[in-house]
Amino acid sequence: MKTIYFDNNATTKVAEEVLEEMRPLFCELYGNPSSMHTFGGQIGRKIRQARERVAGLLGCEPSEIIFTSCGTESDNTAIKGTLAAVPNKRKIITTRVEHPAVLAVCRELANHGYTVVELGVDKQGRLDWRQLEEQIDDDTAVVTIMYANNETGVVFPIERIVEIVSGKGVVFHTDAVQVVGKMPLNLSKSKIDLLSLSGHKLHGPKGVGVLYVRKGTRISPFMLGGHQEEGRRAGTENVPGIVGLGKACELAAETIEEENSKVKYLRDKLEDAILERCPDCELNGDKDNRLPNTTNISFEYIEGEAILLMLDKYGICASSGSACTSGSLEPSHVLRAMGVPFTAAHGSIRFSLSRYNTEEEVDYTIEKMPEIVNRLRELSPFVAK
Ligand code: PLP
Repeated sequence: MKTIYFDNNATTKVAEEVLEEMRPLFCELYGNPSSMHTFGGQIGRKIRQARERVAGLLGCEPSEIIFTSCGTESDNTAIKGTLAAVPNKRKIITTRVEHPAVLAVCRELANHGYTVVELGVDKQGRLDWRQLEEQIDDDTAVVTIMYANNETGVVFPIERIVEIVSGKGVVFHTDAVQVVGKMPLNLSKSKIDLLSLSGHKLHGPKGVGVLYVRKGTRISPFMLGGHQEEGRRAGTENVPGIVGLGKACELAAETIEEENSKVKYLRDKLEDAILERCPDCELNGDKDNRLPNTTNISFEYIEGEAILLMLDKYGICASSGSACTSGSLEPSHVLRAMGVPFTAAHGSIRFSLSRYNTEEEVDYTIEKMPEIVNRLRELSPFVAK
């Protein structure tokens, strides 16, 4: 059975071109870029090229790129590194709908005496960013607000938010893990200080990420040891990963238009058909301000996990809540923050597409979904029969 992969916000397929670029770095060009010999120097050049490619996609300087091991490390470094650089300030502002890579860090810091403010969202997952202005005070060290939500795809008005934060002289970090490669960014025209991304979300490899640090932003290193990354992140570089991420960024720069047209067309076709053909289901999230690849739909009276299992039987991969929280019985913290009723939050499914999906796959899923939903409702004790 062919796999139909609609779980691209969890992770993506590595592009063939990326794999080809990485291949020589394992058994041929395996030297340490910090070594003095010519062999090591060759690897150093590969890393320089990757840094330039990432900077090209983000519209920033190569020197503003720090390679890390993943999006989670980038988020942790941004928050803890900023707090370490401004030890006299003890307040962090974030949102209730962040990925755990941010939320868990903030909540742990709250246990250690920091003041943490979590801004709320409305029913459509839109941030009440006007609260922000009132919350920023002299004690605020960092504001960390995601660019787009991994579960609903809702995009926050980051440029408007960063104007408020930078106007108050506070460091601004954004988790853009779900945005890079899906939406164009130009950091040279932005006042964002810190931005996180992750290789495996944009058809690059797992185990590599980036923290963008705007020139002049004060941040203490999270990993101490050698002098790699100009002393900003110690540890021998994951050279194949970095090279793969560089290539993935180069490809993303070329395919962003495709993401916005083909992927959005497929997502909309899938979403419209499900909402039309399955009764008692509702879209979660702001329809007009969303990533082009994501849809999150709640089905009343049935469990999201049951839908996933039935989809799986047909070879269709989707997700209920985020991959990181599935396996727990708690409904998604994002949907709960939006005020989605408990039963609907339990019955939510996320489909996240990529440029590798086809119309045939979408049509097949459209055919199967009403069948699955009707079948599960027949079995549901909550539906009057
Ligand atoms: N931030 C967001 C918004 C994510 O969606 C994810 C992964 O799902 C992460 C951070 C963590 O990234 P990584 O898996 O590279 O640690």
